[in-house]
Amino acid sequence: MKTIGLIGGMSWQSTRTYYDLLNEMVAARLGGLHSAEILMRSVDFAGLEAAMQRGEWTAIESRLGDEAAALEQGGADCVLLCSNTMHKLYGRIATRIGIPFFHIADALGHALAADGLTRVGLLGTRFTMVEDFYATRLREGFGIDVILPDEGQIGRIDAVIFDELCRGIVEDSSRNSYLEIMDGLAARGAEGIILGCTEIEMLVKPEHHALPLYDTTLLHARHAVEWALSGD
Ligand code: GLU
Repeated sequence: MKTIGLIGGMSWQSTRTYYDLLNEMVAARLGGLHSAEILMRSVDFAGLEAAMQRGEWTAIESRLGDEAAALEQGGADCVLLCSNTMHKLYGRIATRIGIPFFHIADALGHALAADGLTRVGLLGTRFTMVEDFYATRLREGFGIDVILPDEGQIGRIDAVIFDELCRGIVEDSSRNSYLEIMDGLAARGAEGIILGCTEIEMLVKPEHHALPLYDTTLLHARHAVEWALSGD
């Protein structure tokens, strides 16, 4: 089994989900007392979040690049960046390492393509929804078009992520807002909904909505486990 490197802490609420999922999937595959080989660097999110809001992406890129390099030097065989938003910096961070660096949108794109979807709603941070890095990767890599919520809805989704989910707060009223937004995306032709922020699965579960939900935390972790166990 290969060692999975994690850059976590963004937020730690979802990093612990990655930790659980990786171990559960390895245990399910190998049985007995088997568990995942993991190496993790977990960062203090407060400073990085403040830098994001100020648009200081070069500083964030440098920090996350250092963490990726530390994982490689420490013996990780691959790297997962446990945040959709930080994949804005994927290309720059990738230049710092020589081991596989699994893009979260690729794990997602493969799953959407396997299910035959071509138009999907996207929920995530404002950065992930409004900037081009995520939708472009899905369109160019997998032929998938993304439908976005309206401006007011984008603000509400983003506020729930940073003010609640990243702090471990799960509110019914926020779930209802998300479900209403998802209804609107369905009415505009979405064939599925991307949970494009690694904390959203804390709030919205597959049983909450009729459309298929694509949980990026789960898909990213699954991709890494399949790779880590391949060849064993
Ligand atoms: N975990 C989040 C994501 O998947 C949001 C926090 C961040 O900005 O890194 O985008």
